[in-house]
Amino acid sequence: MAERKINMGMVGGGPGSFIGRIHFNGAVLDGRIDLVCGAFSSDPERSKAAGKSYFLPDDRIYGSWEEMLLKEKALPEGKRMDFLCIATPNHAHFGPARMALENGFHVVSDKPLTFDTAEAEILADLVEKTGLIFAVTHAYTGYPMVKEAREMIRTGELGKIRKVVSEYPQGWLSDPLEKGDNVQAGWRTDPHRSGKSGCMGDIGTHALNLAEYVTGLKVTQLCADLSTMVEGRLLDDDGNVLVRYSNGARGIIYASQVSAGEENGLRIRVYGEKGGIEWVQAEPNRLEVKWKDRPLEVRKPGNPYLSELALYNCRMPAGHPEGLIEAFGNIYRNVATCIQCRIDGTTPPAEALDFPKVTDGLRGMQFIDRLIESSESDSKWMNF
Ligand code: NAD
Repeated sequence: MAERKINMGMVGGGPGSFIGRIHFNGAVLDGRIDLVCGAFSSDPERSKAAGKSYFLPDDRIYGSWEEMLLKEKALPEGKRMDFLCIATPNHAHFGPARMALENGFHVVSDKPLTFDTAEAEILADLVEKTGLIFAVTHAYTGYPMVKEAREMIRTGELGKIRKVVSEYPQGWLSDPLEKGDNVQAGWRTDPHRSGKSGCMGDIGTHALNLAEYVTGLKVTQLCADLSTMVEGRLLDDDGNVLVRYSNGARGIIYASQVSAGEENGLRIRVYGEKGGIEWVQAEPNRLEVKWKDRPLEVRKPGNPYLSELALYNCRMPAGHPEGLIEAFGNIYRNVATCIQCRIDGTTPPAEALDFPKVTDGLRGMQFIDRLIESSESDSKWMNF
């Protein structure tokens, strides 16, 4: 039994931001993590205002993440934060992540891991050297029905995997919102803050991570065609990729932010020798299993027929919908368990290690590099 909660500090997640509050809600869901401090904005005044909205004491609301890491390090164990949650735009992941690792703090960072691959490699090296915990919130892999799909494939229920289609269409950037005051569109389409890719870095990396997680396979070769459909936009807003997997399976990964009318259309279909699965993010509590020789089967959370891994990640009795906050919560619960085990000097159970790590984040950055090389080249296939 833990003697205290795990302490989280947050960078980003200020007023009007998107994902910070979802991190917060996911982190506190199980009552095992407290938000104890934060640097919520690059503007110290806005950071103070945000800290108050989280009901933090004044002396734990910081004007910058550098100040936060220095001052927290000086606090006694148990009071200071145990880990840093990073919910800033892409260009502001690396600085706090590196300083956190260098000062002994575990990290939960949002994706894409960093601004570029060189930064991601430095973080992966630091994690290796320090042994600290580093989770990357490819949160779609936290859903119970995604876990079920992974387990079905791992245990051979579908037979050898032959075809994987992982797609992520959105339509919200069909117009040049970045020319107005949409903050999220502004940095996502700015090469100085997003990195060298727009859409494929932002959501194509989720589609890759989901495909590799569900199938347990690695993409080994790819052939990409990235484009910018909205005039004047500086980064890709649509990308189509043919991929080959380590076992010989073939597939498609595509992402788009100009698929007008689409909301958040992440969907994966995987086909093996015996049948296929389909999971759609907008209806996450439903896993369709399509058999060659049997009628359509639908698996749902909370039911005893699910795999142990899926059930471990269910929080409600059958028929009670779970959503994105619970999926984030599943990553945070695993992180909390792993940190608790470090504190207690024990070994975490295998299921608690099942969350996206710094190596998954690095892979996402390498994916972006290969996509751009492939898209700009006339040769057909690139090794990945
Ligand atoms: P946002 O623009 O809504 O919020 C970013 C926040 O970071 C703001 O509060 C801003 O003030 C703060 N910030 C910026 N620079 C800072 C600094 N130097 N110090 C402290 N705070 C700073 O962005 P968002 O849409 O929430 O995205 C944030 C990150 O989360 C991005 O990397 C994005 O790719 C990722 N994201 C992930 C998911 C997911 O499903 N995992 C979903 C959405 C966004």
